[in-house]
Amino acid sequence: MRTVNAIAATSATAPLVRTTVERRDPGPRDVLIEIRYAGICHSDIHTVRGEWGEVAYPLTVGHEIVGHVVEVGAEVTKHGIGDRVGVGCMVNSCRECENCRAGLEQYCTGGNVGTYASVDRDGTITQGGYSTHVVVDEDFVLRVPENIPIEAVAPLLCAGITTYSPLAHWNAGPGKKVAVIGMGGLGHMAVKIAAAMGAEVTVLSQTLSKKDDGLAFGAENYYATSDPATFEALANTFDLIINTVSAQTDINAYLRLLRLDGTLVSVGAPPEPLPVRAFVLFGARRSFAGSSIGGIAETQEMLDFCAEKGIAPEIELIDADAVNEAYERVVASDVRYRFVIDIDSLR
Ligand SMILES: [Zn+2]
Ligand SMILES: [Zn+2]
Repeated sequence: MRTVNAIAATSATAPLVRTTVERRDPGPRDVLIEIRYAGICHSDIHTVRGEWGEVAYPLTVGHEIVGHVVEVGAEVTKHGIGDRVGVGCMVNSCRECENCRAGLEQYCTGGNVGTYASVDRDGTITQGGYSTHVVVDEDFVLRVPENIPIEAVAPLLCAGITTYSPLAHWNAGPGKKVAVIGMGGLGHMAVKIAAAMGAEVTVLSQTLSKKDDGLAFGAENYYATSDPATFEALANTFDLIINTVSAQTDINAYLRLLRLDGTLVSVGAPPEPLPVRAFVLFGARRSFAGSSIGGIAETQEMLDFCAEKGIAPEIELIDADAVNEAYERVVASDVRYRFVIDIDSLR
């Protein structure tokens, strides 16, 4: 066991504070990672504030982690000391269920082990990446290509894979019209990835304030959803819509923008149910779907794809002491487009 520096929430309402967490000694199949950068995901905030259910405090969150391997267990074959690696939203799963065997560990029927606030195999509660070190089973550690700037990698491990997976599953590519609802942390990655896949990308954002960015990230069209004319102009247009917005929204208005056999995939999670009108689905054999992160193999595929295409998240780099202020800005949608904590500031 080793004690390492971290930032933790001590209650649902108190600011995060500097503290320490315990990391287990690496087992035969574990790697010890010295963390360099950790992204701030909106899920971190929902979790520490108890908005997604009760959690045990103190809790260290963070599931967009990048760093270097500094120690490996005796049986580790996939990673070596000095390797640049990443960890996303999961650190284990049952490995035996149908979904795990298909490489879809995120849909483990027994529930995967989350990177934080989950019960680990040793019965302890997992603690996330706002910390100087973490110990993870080698099967849940990703290889990070050298040509992605290391300070920008972290958000790929959640925001990147969360958008890549549905884009790949529903075949975004040449000849396909893809719309992205929302231009935040998830949305900006959806735009970059869908454009790199060859799709024609349209951003549907509340206002046109981020239009220049959206076009620079690869979108061909950019519409304000505050303008009712948008919904008339784009009716029956898209093959695929990725909804990254967590706020309550008139989902039927967006479903009507799907062409025949189109699919709207929600990756944002509004707290209340969304009332879907069946007649809107009937009208063009439309589908309403959901998607959760991606499996380990697909996460590796996403990292390699981003390296090959030269795409990376847009980030604002902060020190550990700025995390509470960053949280307020994430809640206010005032970040372009993801905060990343420089973990050197925690050492
Ligand atoms: Zn996340
Ligand atoms: Zn499983």
